[in-house]
Amino acid sequence: MTKTQTMPTSSPKAIPLWQQWQSVVGVLQAVHNGQSTQQALADVPAALRPGVQALSYAALRQWGVARALRQLLVPRKPQPAIDALLCGALALLWQQAPASESNQSNVYTDFTLVNQAVEAAKRHPKWRHQSNLVNAVLRRYLREQAQWHADMVATSPQQEPALRNVPAWWWQRLQRDYGEQALEVVRASLQPALMTLRVNAQHMTAEAYLQQHLLPAGLQAVCNGEYGVTLMRAVPVQQLPGFAQGWVSVQDQAAQQAAPLLLAQLPEQGERPLRVLDACAAPGGKTAHLLELNPYLQVIALEVDAARAERIHDNLQRIGAQAQVLVADAGDVAAWWDGEPFDAILLDAPCTASGIMRRHPDVPWLRRAEDVPQLAAQQRRLLEAMWPLLREGGAMVYCTCSVFKEEGEQQVVAFLQRHRDAIAHKSPGHLLPTVLKTVQNAQYSDHDGFFYALFTKQTNMAA
Ligand code: SAM
Repeated sequence: MTKTQTMPTSSPKAIPLWQQWQSVVGVLQAVHNGQSTQQALADVPAALRPGVQALSYAALRQWGVARALRQLLVPRKPQPAIDALLCGALALLWQQAPASESNQSNVYTDFTLVNQAVEAAKRHPKWRHQSNLVNAVLRRYLREQAQWHADMVATSPQQEPALRNVPAWWWQRLQRDYGEQALEVVRASLQPALMTLRVNAQHMTAEAYLQQHLLPAGLQAVCNGEYGVTLMRAVPVQQLPGFAQGWVSVQDQAAQQAAPLLLAQLPEQGERPLRVLDACAAPGGKTAHLLELNPYLQVIALEVDAARAERIHDNLQRIGAQAQVLVADAGDVAAWWDGEPFDAILLDAPCTASGIMRRHPDVPWLRRAEDVPQLAAQQRRLLEAMWPLLREGGAMVYCTCSVFKEEGEQQVVAFLQRHRDAIAHKSPGHLLPTVLKTVQNAQYSDHDGFFYALFTKQTNMAA
């Protein structure tokens, strides 16, 4: 057990930790009530936000252990805010939090974490009467830390999902899908992700951006995949050379595999421009990549959520690309399709997002077991709606940012059984999230979990 906590904040000394704790409690309670951290953080004052985000994310990465410990230490559940404060503090005390969450790091000793959590309770009018409880529980935990640790680790099978820091149903699903590899998947998912950029191929290669722009600007980074560059420390995008001019965009390396996979299978361009549909397009990361790799494509970017569709416009404008953006339910074909088949379709379907926990540690705590079959049914509906729109000889990529096989491999096996005119091609399949490895050579690869399948439509055959 480490004795210090590496806890990043945006302005380490300026804002007292107790004040941050009070906002962290709000964020943790919001997640408990089904709101995402992103939504909850929008209500946190800007000056507090980076520190509160770092603390909340670190706590959510130890949320299973923290809740189990709280139950052991205080069997009768305290009021929700005190519960969140105790769980948050226990999460951070349990394990040294990762340092790569934000730009600056700050070190809090265990003593400071506890002291300031108690202070947070004392200074809040509605929590004050519980500050003695917070003090007693956290100090007891500190005194008996080694014993609590041993008890949790020498765990009963019932405690195992808690130790893995995911809900029980999530852990069971991973075990069913991946067997012994489930542990590796969950461990990688609990590591904070680094900031990865996609370099715009219209401007330069990833290697050129790294050597000629990032390194001279003092930003340590490595090439990551064909178009990617990963920074060792995140920076605000405005500090990235050429960001405003569209040289780079923020996008995980796994997500960067969609456009090249689809384009490699495109039919030859004839007289007319190739027509490509991005069926679930917002915020437009993959639409933009398609156009960076081939600006002559005629792309329709479809999105059901009007507010999110606005972001497609913004992203395309920044990189200087154009697409026709439509707001519609892709599955309701009659409402938006002009009857002209597509040469290629990208279906980046809505999913549980179980592959992107590295960036969104609230995801497992927001999902319910029943979400998986519900989302799988939606994915199937969209696959069925998209397939007839593809020209014979055309290519389709189906992808999700999920590691669950029901949203990937199993979905595709069923699709191929339903469509005898679909030919499956080599594709990454289930990409599992990777843990940051020491950078020694150009072969560096770090990415989220994702799923990819690639099909073409056979010519002259009825579906
Ligand atoms: N492809 C995007 C990118 O790379 O930036 C990310 C897409 S995100 C995984 C899925 C998107 O699909 C969400 O923006 C969601 O609002 C949208 N969506 C969900 N159901 C849809 C539907 N029936 N028709 C069109 N878009 C849909």
